[in-house]
Amino acid sequence: MSAAAPNERTNLLGLSKAELEAFVGEMGSKPFRARQLMSWLYKRGQGDIASMTDLAKDFRAELVQRAEVSVPEIVKTQIASDGTRKWLLSGGNGQAFEMVYIPEEDRGTLCISSQVGCALDCSFCSTAQQGFNRNLTTAEIVGQVWLANRELGWQVGDNRIITNIVFMGMGEPLANFRAVVPAIRIFLDDLGFDISRRRVTLSTSGLVPQIYKLAEEVNCALAVSLHAPNDELRSQLVPINRKHNIAELLEACWHYLDEQNGRSVTFEYVMLDGVNDQPAHARELAKLLRDKPAKLNLIPFNPYPGTQYRRSPQAVIEKFRDELMQRGLIVTIRKTRGDDIDAACGQLAGQVTDRTIVRLGSKTFGLQVRA
Ligand code: SAH
Repeated sequence: MSAAAPNERTNLLGLSKAELEAFVGEMGSKPFRARQLMSWLYKRGQGDIASMTDLAKDFRAELVQRAEVSVPEIVKTQIASDGTRKWLLSGGNGQAFEMVYIPEEDRGTLCISSQVGCALDCSFCSTAQQGFNRNLTTAEIVGQVWLANRELGWQVGDNRIITNIVFMGMGEPLANFRAVVPAIRIFLDDLGFDISRRRVTLSTSGLVPQIYKLAEEVNCALAVSLHAPNDELRSQLVPINRKHNIAELLEACWHYLDEQNGRSVTFEYVMLDGVNDQPAHARELAKLLRDKPAKLNLIPFNPYPGTQYRRSPQAVIEKFRDELMQRGLIVTIRKTRGDDIDAACGQLAGQVTDRTIVRLGSKTFGLQVRA
């Protein structure tokens, strides 16, 4: 199994149930073969087509010719003292991206990437420093979850090891909409990974038109990287705010919940020392989100070499939380995990070696590249 397909075989991990049915249909087989295949792939974790023993022999022989199960190649694995694991995965052509598994008492969260690098240029994010290289394919996105399951052992007794999936690795998932949506369908499908819609979270920096589109296409939890309580500050930290401001963004979020019958949107707020962490910011934020179906997740900033930002002191973070809670907001402080292997939010570095200029909306993103 390798990342770059050596031939024209179709990677089965990139196909939703409907696509798999069409694929077996082209081979002259009945749709139930697609169900059988999904059961092998996602219930039994079988990646070797020749070993899928209840498939008719002729069908299996033809499938081996036409299809494969291919996952991203592991370049490096790191395991932190708290059990957090980070994998560096090959994106081909010397590029790499990352995936992190975070075990907790009552759940296991897999943090996956949607792109190699990122074009959004958020000023505090280490992935942004890498620049953008390319979108991951659906098969590479699904392949991350399949690979992590294979590495971790799928389940312990009746309990799954990976119970939650978050798009909080490298990249902006809504900027890779066409590959991300089918991947989410496979995560949710009861014939696929069969994860509940509240346990699959897409995190976005705020691509407003795509939030409306997402509401029409899939049903999963939404997290939004807010990071500032007003447009002036947010535009400095999250440049996409210059195109879609906070008011527009919040409207899209409430629309998303209405369409999906969702409970709340999680707003991520990175705590940057002296930048966005003052009580006045908390009060402004509370005004914005009071009485709204919102949860706030405060993320202590994770530093990386070369950044100008510092993490807010713990006492400042707690005061910020208290200001919000006093005003009725639901707030959590994110625990920093995997410290000793730089596996925390915003530290996923990978490698991007191509120089690329990417246009997103009207802004041209000139990208810095580190070899
Ligand atoms: N592009 C998506 C996913 C990004 S990663 C998004 O913007 O939501 C998930 C979260 O980590 C985002 O909220 C992001 O802003 C945050 N983040 C990025 N760099 C960080 C850093 N150095 N420390 C803490 N959080 C960071």
